[in-house]
Amino acid sequence: MEFRNLTGRREIGANCYVLGSGDARLVLDCGMHPKEVGFDALPDFGPLPHDSAQGIVITHAHHDHIGGLPVLMRRQTQAPIYMTEITGELTSAMLHNSVNVMTSQRTEKGIAEYPLFTHRELEENRARFVYHDLKRPFGVPGTPWELSFYDAGHILGSAGVMVREGNHRLFYTGDVHFEAQTICMAADFPREGVDVLVMETTRGTHQRPADYSRRAEKERLAALIRDTYEAHGAVLIPVFALGKTQEVVLMLHELRQEGLIPDMPLHMGGLGTKITTLYDEYADRSRRSYPGLRLLEDIPSLVKPSRAPRRGAPRHIPLEPRHIYCLSSGMMTEGTLSNQFAWKLIENPRHAVAFVGYTDPDSPGFALRNAKAGQKLKLAPDLPAVEVNARIASFDLSAHSSREHLAAYAEALRPKKIILVHGDEAAQAWFQERWAQTLAGVSEIIIPSGHQPIELW
Ligand SMILES: [Zn+2]
Ligand SMILES: [Zn+2]
Repeated sequence: MEFRNLTGRREIGANCYVLGSGDARLVLDCGMHPKEVGFDALPDFGPLPHDSAQGIVITHAHHDHIGGLPVLMRRQTQAPIYMTEITGELTSAMLHNSVNVMTSQRTEKGIAEYPLFTHRELEENRARFVYHDLKRPFGVPGTPWELSFYDAGHILGSAGVMVREGNHRLFYTGDVHFEAQTICMAADFPREGVDVLVMETTRGTHQRPADYSRRAEKERLAALIRDTYEAHGAVLIPVFALGKTQEVVLMLHELRQEGLIPDMPLHMGGLGTKITTLYDEYADRSRRSYPGLRLLEDIPSLVKPSRAPRRGAPRHIPLEPRHIYCLSSGMMTEGTLSNQFAWKLIENPRHAVAFVGYTDPDSPGFALRNAKAGQKLKLAPDLPAVEVNARIASFDLSAHSSREHLAAYAEALRPKKIILVHGDEAAQAWFQERWAQTLAGVSEIIIPSGHQPIELW
């Protein structure tokens, strides 16, 4: 069996990997690079001839794992798409949104090849989605492989996948969190019998303080919200539409119930609302905390989204004191609700912005969270620069495992080979260094460069 990285570069982007054995091919994930545009944002499908794959596995519905899927499906016309049911439904919603984003980018940025796929194509694609529950092994017709999903604890529906060929086993983590979040429970991954581990390394460069606790971070966030309430200000929390929005909304509900924050109307926006509807649909049918709890119905402080004035038009959300705004995008990308809202409120020292997730160094969110008080900041080309006077704070509530947990998982598993993916060079170097001590003579550590086939067994 062989492994190939079609991502083409090391940092997190268009995640896409291929397993090959004889004539059989299995594709793992098919993302789009968030910082590239057009065809350049896709994985390099070069080493994967048309109609050579018998199956495609999707671990979860984040853009860097599904963004290129419709293009891949056009080239691999027979391959079923294997995933959990929730991931399938979330994938559809996210890709339909992609069509809308690409369509507006076509006019705004003049990207001629956009959209790379259409709404109609996405509807047709659903016929090829094949859903499997966690821990229920299934075969891939025409291949020697048996697959099985394991809850990855990252977002709802996320899964790692075991690929079994005879007596050999490969396990691909996808994105994983080994600790419980608010809705997602801790990952439930295999603890033995893995020969090859393909592992994400997102947080390899992040050192957690020794006294870190998620509870303490939540209490620090509560304190910021209380202070802002006292000052008659508003709180903006920029969030990814899928995963982080739902986690934060339920976390705020918990804090409210514990009496740690006052009763403040809570807003979510745009795609976040659509995705939350799907989280609620699966409230009883997924491995999660608070089973049965429906965010949109059961959280009294959540402001019911009003209807958009016309189809496709952005809904207007007024800025009011003593309200909380959980708006996408998490990185405050130009043109998004969180970007526009930040522009409206950062000049006023009564307001606060709370960052709760990853921001790319090139994003407006990164610039804001690192801005000095009083500094002038331009958040988008079409918006005038504004002075940063609001309180800006960051909280470690990541949906990815700490590097210590990832390293410890591999050390307990002791696979013969470990392939490091989904992280930048410095992140992967940290794991190599640690395992040079702890897994010396046990595991071969491999960093797959673009397209080089790696012999697994
Ligand atoms: Zn993810
Ligand atoms: Zn990812």
